[in-house]
Amino acid sequence: MELAIYTQDVPMVPYRDIPVLPRPEEAIPELQAAGVTAIEAGHSFFIANPERVVEENSRMFHQAGIRIWSVYAPFGKDRNLADPDALKRHHAVEYHKFVLERVALAGASLVVIHPGAYGGEQEVPRMLPLLSDSLESLLPVAERLGVRLALKNIVPREPGPGFPALRQVVEKLGSKWLGVCFDTDHAHKGGGVKAGMEILKDLIITFHLADNDGTVQSCMWDHFMQPPYGVVPWNDFLGVWQTMDFTSPVVVRAIPWAGECYRHMQREVSALLQGELMQVDVSGIPTKLRCLRCGHLRFGTAEDNWCACL
Ligand SMILES: [Zn+2]
Repeated sequence: MELAIYTQDVPMVPYRDIPVLPRPEEAIPELQAAGVTAIEAGHSFFIANPERVVEENSRMFHQAGIRIWSVYAPFGKDRNLADPDALKRHHAVEYHKFVLERVALAGASLVVIHPGAYGGEQEVPRMLPLLSDSLESLLPVAERLGVRLALKNIVPREPGPGFPALRQVVEKLGSKWLGVCFDTDHAHKGGGVKAGMEILKDLIITFHLADNDGTVQSCMWDHFMQPPYGVVPWNDFLGVWQTMDFTSPVVVRAIPWAGECYRHMQREVSALLQGELMQVDVSGIPTKLRCLRCGHLRFGTAEDNWCACL
C-alpha cells in the first residue's frame, strides 16, 4: 500500500511552509527524508507557470522518485461545473479543460473535481443534469490526455449530491475516465462513512483521508486532522476498506499529528489501514490507546506495539 501526501494549503513540513512544486530544490530533499513517494498538488502551480516550468519541475520530482499522483482542481462558485447560468458553466468547463491540459504535462494520473457549488439541497436535483453535461464535455479531454476525473463527495455547508446521486452521475456516464474521490472527513459530516463507502466503493479511484474532531467548527470547515485522531469511525471505514482491492496511492489530506514529521504520519496511517490501531473495549465502547508521554496513539499488538516514543 502506498500513501500520497496532500500538499495544497497545508504546511509541507510542520511549521515550515515550503511550497512544494514551485520550489523543488527545497521540497524534494524534505519529501525524500520523510519517505514520501507520491503527492497530491493544488492546481495553482499549473496555471500560474509556463508549460516549460511545469514540465521541468515535474521532471525533477519524478527523477527523485516522487510521483505527482493527483491534482486538486479549482472549485467554488466561480468554477462551478453545475452552475445554472449557462455562460458561467461554460467558463467553468473551459477552465477545467485548461487545468487538465497543464496537469497532463506533469504526468499526474487524476484530477479531483467538485460536483458543483450548491446554494441548498433544493438545488441539487436541478443541477445534477448540468453537472452531467459538463462532465460529458470534459471526459473526451480527460481521455485524450490520459488523466482521470475523480468526483468528490462534498460537505454539508456546501450541500451537494448525496452518495446515491454521485453514484448515479458516474454510472450514467459510464466512462473509465470518471470515478469518485472519497473524502472520509466529508463523509462523516454528511451521510456517514460506512454508508458512503458501501454505496460508492466500486467507483472509488482515489481517497482524501482526513479526520475531524466532531465540533461544530470542525463540521463546517476542513481541519486537516490526521487519521485516526478524531471521531471519524475508522472501524466502519476499515470494514469496507478491507473488502476492497485498492492498489493506487491513498491520499492523506492532513497535517501530521502534534507536529510530528510526515514519515511518522505515514507510518501511523499505514498501520491504521492495516488494522493495527490498538483498541480496547471499555464498557462496550471501542477505545483507542494513547501514550501519555508523547500524546500519540499506540499501534501494533499487545506483544509488539509502538507510538512516537519508540
Ligand atoms: Zn509515546
